[in-house]
Amino acid sequence: MNFENFEKNENVKAELNALEKSRRFPHALIINGGNNESRESLSILLSKWAVCKNEDKPCSECIPCQKAEKGVHPDIYFAKGSGKTDVIAVEEIRNITRACSIIANEADTKVFVIKDADKRMGVEALNAFLKTLEEPPQAILFLLTTEDAGVLPETVLSRCTVLNLEQSSGFSEETLEKAKQILLNITELNEISLLKSTSVLNDKSKALELLPAMRAILSDALSLTVSDETLLSKEYSETLSTKLTKKKLIGLIETVNYAIYTISRNVNLSLMSTWICGEFRRITWQK
Ligand SMILES: [Zn+2]
Repeated sequence: MNFENFEKNENVKAELNALEKSRRFPHALIINGGNNESRESLSILLSKWAVCKNEDKPCSECIPCQKAEKGVHPDIYFAKGSGKTDVIAVEEIRNITRACSIIANEADTKVFVIKDADKRMGVEALNAFLKTLEEPPQAILFLLTTEDAGVLPETVLSRCTVLNLEQSSGFSEETLEKAKQILLNITELNEISLLKSTSVLNDKSKALELLPAMRAILSDALSLTVSDETLLSKEYSETLSTKLTKKKLIGLIETVNYAIYTISRNVNLSLMSTWICGEFRRITWQK
């Protein structure tokens, strides 16, 4: 993916690049955290990417890219909302769902942008949206932006890929080393060492330090399955990329992403670390 106009977050770039290369691009993305401007700029970049007609997407030069930049592309819809608080009514979500089944005008993919979904979508609208996510239509990309994705129901979160824009300023070597060790333990098919290593995540500050580092290492390992590019030193991700398949790496990244959001919702950390342990085990050990 061409990030010329987006310099905000290395982790997010790596993750999007890896998803694009994996040819398993999600149909719903939540752009979370950061500030308004960075969320806006990433949603424009992804909209352009979805409609761009050139090889190196988004090129920012073709007519579809320019229309997307100006917010006038006929295949990019913005949830309008109504009333003083701009709330998105359930009827609007139903209209969006109906519009999903109509073929795109100019692009290959239709894009639906729901800004500030955490503040503008009530329970009914979220439930209606969930139904659409459960049976995702073809050639559709949903882009939601949120300041705090943690307030969305788990059922919705688990069906979206969450891109966290919070800056993760360089990891210390010690943190990376610990994160790498946890990740290597999950590949060793040893339940005890896996339980032991994930139990450090019971501590909130350790979890918030280690999980983003684990995500960065996993993103690198995923990149290594298709290219030679990594953000961190290859020593952290090389072994993982040879031991785990792309599908497993993506599953692990999604698990770590989800864990980071549950922490922001003050969940019981020992339950969370047990859950992570179970998910890691399930994803890594499945055939
Ligand atoms: Zn273009």
